[in-house]
Amino acid sequence: MKWINRKAQSLKQGKIRDMFDRAAGYEGVISLGIGEPDMATPKAICEAARRAMEEGRTHYTPNAGTLSLRTAIAESEMMRRFGYRPEKEIVITTGGMGALSLCLQVVLDPGDEALIQDPQWLNYVAQVRYADGVAVRVPAGREQGFVLTAKEIERKITANTKVLLINSPNNPTGRILGHQEMEKIAKVAIDRDLLVISDEVYQVLRYDGKEHESIAGLPGMRDRTVIVNSFSKAFAMTGWRVGYAAGPEEIIDKMVKLQENFNSCPSSVGQYAAEYALGHMELAEEMRGRYEKRRAILMEGLNQLPGIRCTWPEGAFYAFADISSFGISSEEFCGRLLEEQRVVCIPGSAFGDCGEGFIRLSYANGEKNLEEALRRMETFVGSLAGHSCK
Ligand code: PLP
Repeated sequence: MKWINRKAQSLKQGKIRDMFDRAAGYEGVISLGIGEPDMATPKAICEAARRAMEEGRTHYTPNAGTLSLRTAIAESEMMRRFGYRPEKEIVITTGGMGALSLCLQVVLDPGDEALIQDPQWLNYVAQVRYADGVAVRVPAGREQGFVLTAKEIERKITANTKVLLINSPNNPTGRILGHQEMEKIAKVAIDRDLLVISDEVYQVLRYDGKEHESIAGLPGMRDRTVIVNSFSKAFAMTGWRVGYAAGPEEIIDKMVKLQENFNSCPSSVGQYAAEYALGHMELAEEMRGRYEKRRAILMEGLNQLPGIRCTWPEGAFYAFADISSFGISSEEFCGRLLEEQRVVCIPGSAFGDCGEGFIRLSYANGEKNLEEALRRMETFVGSLAGHSCK
């Protein structure tokens, strides 16, 4: 179409959506593909939104989002240690994705390189490219134990490197970046003058008592880190589209101005609902407990399937399982699993080359569905093992 510009011509649907499109052609499908909570947004949060609507709080908010939500974020248990000033250093966005895209658009010049671990949720790559940056993948696969390391980061730094994106707890691996490695990464960021965008949207979803640590809290990092967070995953609020970024005043200021020009502000009602949610972390904690039980069901089941091995994820709601023993690509594995047993999983290759040999399974699904999916997978791997399992 002649009116589409060159940049937009490069836009294509991601591989995760491709799998969903394929699955739509089948009946009786169990999806372990989706990256969103299956639970409803807690009633009390919906009530808060209803109150906002009834009271007529349904208009534009400031471009940076309501000051009351920004203040609540600054004072929240997870953020208060950093002392962010709500008037200058926090912007409310349309989900975590809105925060990522505004940030990348205000920091990247054409040709600037942004480091992104591999495997990683791929929207980062698309966003960096659309902001005219260059996405440079940092291996964090099997060889690196699925951990982003300072050593691999250093190897990829050039004179053009400006940004490092990190994501812990991680999508797709479910790994949490440990303190020691985080310290080493912070040292590289400082020595090589990088801005770190720290995507912490799965912060609340941690298991086995694991602590959350933000790289912004390490010495020398607060002024070179933009924290991205969201209400989507923690409170089952994916459709409300409320997230935020906290970081250096100058960057936040430009993000607010960009938001002013492009979408004005996130939904007002969504922001009031989010503010209520933040004051009721017990709602997120209750859901976290349910994911922890589901994780156990999925992990115990997966590790009993012949040919499949999976390390227990530490956070988020994804398991990243090794299917390499079957000697077929992750794409073929997932395609056949869908065709033959009606179970959707996402090929590891959808997250980068280092994800090959693995599949991502989401346990944001009910216990009965997880059990049924495991039964179907058992039949499937049984049929594969007969001829191709090494
Ligand atoms: N960051 C990561 C790592 C994600 O997996 C997602 C969603 O899947 C997001 C950010 C965006 O979440 P939202 O825009 O719904 O807040």
